[in-house]
Amino acid sequence: MDHASPPSNARHRLRLAGALELSPSIEKHPINIRERYGHFINGEFVPGQGDESFATVNPATGEPLAQVAAGTEADVDAAVAAARKAHDEVWSKLSGLERGKYIYRIARRLQERGREFATLESTDNGKPIRETRDVDIPLAAAHFFYYAGWADKLRYATRGAAANPSSLGVAGQVIPWNFPLLMLAWKIAPALATGNTVVLKPAETTPLTAMLFAELLQEVDLPPGVVNIVNGAGATGSHVVSHPGVDKVAFTGSTQVGRAIMRAIAGSGKKATMELGGKGANIVYADASLDQAVEGCVDGIFFNQGHVCCAGSRLLLEESIADEFIARLKRRVETLRVGDPLDKNTDVGAINSKGQLATIERYLEIGREEGATVWQGAACQKPDAGYFVLPTILTGVQQSDTVVREEIFGPVLACLTFRTPDEAIRKANDTEYGLACGVWSEKTAKVFRTAHALNCGVVWANGYNLFDPASPFGGVRHSGFGREGGIAGLWPYLKA
Ligand code: NAP
Ligand code: MG
Repeated sequence: MDHASPPSNARHRLRLAGALELSPSIEKHPINIRERYGHFINGEFVPGQGDESFATVNPATGEPLAQVAAGTEADVDAAVAAARKAHDEVWSKLSGLERGKYIYRIARRLQERGREFATLESTDNGKPIRETRDVDIPLAAAHFFYYAGWADKLRYATRGAAANPSSLGVAGQVIPWNFPLLMLAWKIAPALATGNTVVLKPAETTPLTAMLFAELLQEVDLPPGVVNIVNGAGATGSHVVSHPGVDKVAFTGSTQVGRAIMRAIAGSGKKATMELGGKGANIVYADASLDQAVEGCVDGIFFNQGHVCCAGSRLLLEESIADEFIARLKRRVETLRVGDPLDKNTDVGAINSKGQLATIERYLEIGREEGATVWQGAACQKPDAGYFVLPTILTGVQQSDTVVREEIFGPVLACLTFRTPDEAIRKANDTEYGLACGVWSEKTAKVFRTAHALNCGVVWANGYNLFDPASPFGGVRHSGFGREGGIAGLWPYLKA
């Protein structure tokens, strides 16, 4: 299939709402992975001031790809100093129109080099090339296009509180490994549009597309210091968020680390947004279009190996259709191809790390101990090397089971049933999380009634995992606070 033609698979078509296809004139770069990476500070690639480094691996093989420097306090100091200078002397002084031009250039260049970014992302992260090519990279570019458009319109962005809203200063941003470039785009695009500068820490297991993005920033001549990227593990992230020179913290990751960050910055006066974990429920009423709902549920949990904060990891089925639905779901799951992320026919790629593989396997064990029936299906055997889990469906589970309550962050779907809409709503809301849910019904009134009663940030109706840069995204309760995307995504970066 030509990369520029619309994706043929319905699962992928679903998620493309609002996304841009990669440019037809896309360049076919082979990927170039360096042996060692340091950091990107003040517009330059620098080796880093410490001696420690770590390997990033290809999760489909377990083989190391590159050695990456672990950022020290001194590296973070240098990055924050560069960001402060760039903010005070250059970036906040530019007109919104001028800032917008840089952001448009970033967006265009991302599209043009999309195939290279997609290949690198799939290699470092393990997600299928069809997803990186059709979803991650086009959506990352779409985010920069969207926020570029806001850069010269900020006076319309706050609701009358400030005639000319201004930037906060330096944003410290920490992102997870499940959507490395897309999370980078969600963080960097609104920060730049609002005149802030950035110190970003990628996840330890997926630093490579952030480093390629830094090359792209050099290509578009972004002024030095406007975006700085410091590699490292949790300790480096901790230096970034607690640095006194950082004015705003943006974090996406686990609820546990989000809590630690909130404790670390308490009383500092820093603004913060937290995008944390989830345990989304997909509610399927008996009057839903079942074929469509099966696709949506498959998409909701097996997209990106289930490494999705808003994954529909709980399936709530109206009792009268439960057996029929699960039978259809299993038939569909048996057609999924698990394997090489770089094969364009692959539906489910590699689990991002050995650690995450162990976590998922531990949850399956707990599920068995608690009495769940564990069913796995796939059109092929899982590869011998690398980190893989077959798409898994758990039945015979109850609301109180660990696998129903905790975020597994893998391709594992827990199925429960309900008899009335009230029961469905009660079960969906019976979680400490509140990020996303799905509702499937042909009856619009029922969809709206259910959606309004759900206690979460995002509800999809007759669809799942639909992303659009114009639409706000974020959670409630233990899924975090603050919104990214849309006009609401500008507010956390502006002085109100
Ligand atoms: P994580 O362990 O919380 O890590 C997230 C990021 O924080 C990584 O860059 C990590 O570095 C860094 N970090 C770790 N400890 C830190 C500390 N004490 N201070 C500052 N930074 C620290 O989460 P993950 O395993 O990478 O990602 C999976 C989680 O993210 C899931 O729970 C998922 O639900 C959530 N998530 C939420 C959203 C959303 O929008 N709500 C989106 C995607 C993912 P290292 O990687 O080097 O440890
Ligand atoms: Mg990796």
